[in-house]
Amino acid sequence: EIDVMAIGELLIDFSPAGPSLNKRPTFEQNPGGAPANVVAALGKWGRATSMIARVGEDFFGEDLISTLKEHHVDCSLITKDKKIPTTLAFVNLDDNGNRSFRFYRKPGADLMLHKDNIEETGIKRCKIFHFGSVSLTGEPSREATWHAVELAKENAKIISFDPNVRELLWEDHDEMKEQIIRGLSVADLVKVSEEELHFLTGEDMLEKAMTLLSETYSIPLLIITLGAEGSSYRLYGKMGFIPGYKVRALDTTGAGDVFWGSVLYQLLGRAKLLELQETDIVQILQTANAVGALTTLKKGAIPSIPTIDEIDLFLRQHRTHMEDKT
Ligand code: ATP
Repeated sequence: EIDVMAIGELLIDFSPAGPSLNKRPTFEQNPGGAPANVVAALGKWGRATSMIARVGEDFFGEDLISTLKEHHVDCSLITKDKKIPTTLAFVNLDDNGNRSFRFYRKPGADLMLHKDNIEETGIKRCKIFHFGSVSLTGEPSREATWHAVELAKENAKIISFDPNVRELLWEDHDEMKEQIIRGLSVADLVKVSEEELHFLTGEDMLEKAMTLLSETYSIPLLIITLGAEGSSYRLYGKMGFIPGYKVRALDTTGAGDVFWGSVLYQLLGRAKLLELQETDIVQILQTANAVGALTTLKKGAIPSIPTIDEIDLFLRQHRTHMEDKT
């Protein structure tokens, strides 16, 4: 039995590591890729996970596979491309730790994921199937991703989708919207950032945009990440906002993915994953906000996933802090 299976990009993030002696930036090699970050977090917290991905047959690919293995992620469905190298992304950080990316993949091995690399048996054994839109940006990985998602859907799996819109990776804007809409339409659990929500709906008002998105695509649980502000939810028509925690953010890379890992982790702890009350989702997001905040304290995505003990301690400290104030 697999709790969460994910498909998509597994790549190297080069995070800024300070100026070199000649004053030019230096970069440190960090394992990443949004769906990979989600399963790495869940694996670290003891859940059974599996990743479908493609890397290059090179030292970057080796590093990625060994990192996921260290996080107890099943890597038997990760294939290596002999010709196309592992995809690289360079990260730029502003003064608040907010990140932007530039991808080096024309193509990169992540895009070479093929339908033949997908195996139905694994998908049949999972509870949640997670994907994003980076693997939908081109062929053959687009066909492979849809093939896997359709198999998961046919086998009545819970579908989780985080579009992670990266406009620069798409050649055609309409095609991008069409692919993301298809993802939103099949998913039971959707996470989008505030910017993505406005972009996808063309609506500026947060609540209106949330209603529009979840009603148009019949999304049972929609979560919006709001950076340091926290997060919002729309669950079967009910909406709410959960404030975030104040921390000194160093690098927000992966905060959204590890936050989402925490949401999935907590849903997996329930007998019926999708039978949620509003009070449940409030609690889930309070914890996920803490996990997201903790992930911003270190550089890189996977290296900054907090342990269960670190999360518990942070929550205890902040609860006491809140009680002291009242
Ligand atoms: P990505 O696009 O990288 O997947 P995202 O934009 O969806 O990420 P963020 O909003 O950056 O995700 O972060 C996810 C969650 O982590 C937020 O909802 C919040 O709870 C927490 N978080 C992020 N940045 C900060 C910060 N600077 N301070 C405190 N909490 C933060």
